[in-house]
Amino acid sequence: MSELIFANYGYCHCCEQAVRFTAADSWFRDHYVCSECGSIPRERALSWAIDKFFPDWRQATIHESSPIPRGASEKLKQHCGNYITSQYFPGVESGVEFQGWRCEDLENLSFADNSIDLHISQDVMEHILSPKQVFLEIARTLRPGGMHIFTVPLVNKSRVSEICAERGENGVIKHLLEPEYHGNPVSEQGALVTRRWGYDICEHIFKSSGLFTQIIHLDALEWGIRAEFIEVLITMKPLSITDNVMSDTGLKEQSKTKLKNCSK
Ligand SMILES: [Zn+2]
Repeated sequence: MSELIFANYGYCHCCEQAVRFTAADSWFRDHYVCSECGSIPRERALSWAIDKFFPDWRQATIHESSPIPRGASEKLKQHCGNYITSQYFPGVESGVEFQGWRCEDLENLSFADNSIDLHISQDVMEHILSPKQVFLEIARTLRPGGMHIFTVPLVNKSRVSEICAERGENGVIKHLLEPEYHGNPVSEQGALVTRRWGYDICEHIFKSSGLFTQIIHLDALEWGIRAEFIEVLITMKPLSITDNVMSDTGLKEQSKTKLKNCSK
């Protein structure tokens, strides 16, 4: 086992107990782990944010896209009675079971309008090809008062977000920057990074869906929360959305389209 470079005692918001946090590498983002549940800082920050901003999550209907078998996902699985998980498999229709998973394409969710209290995603939004469509789908399916609580590496910080790859003609991926892949539990190929997001992601979400997003930056050693790129973002769907906002952003159109599809 490699030598520890840092260790401290504290409270883990994923496994909800007093633990020891240790790091054997100075890149805390991936290596500063909880001794009890193996969680990493961004997972603990996410768990904290869910508790803080949606305290009734245990009774909520939660959908998590691409869950992780530890940390925040494990906590939701253990304590939420209506926790729906999904993975994305290209070519498989949303709502269909495939390889033991429910398939959900974030660009075209099978969930009804206003049916989900909480959408959760962990480092997924940097891999989507059509952010506008994804943010719109999340907004459509959220119940008024619902939230999308998520982590995404804001690697560009105060610089503008960059498009690394997009869907070109005939659906072929067009690379605008040198391709970069992250680990993907359901694909050996890995997940292609499509966006290098900055803080302006909030503006992108607003222009796509009309919903406001706040960025929470936590730094709390006593909770094992310290690392680069561990911001938690919270997009909130208000209890009532004015018709103006809905038609300005296409949310209304989206809603109608879905209803039409359902009645086929
Ligand atoms: Zn823990």
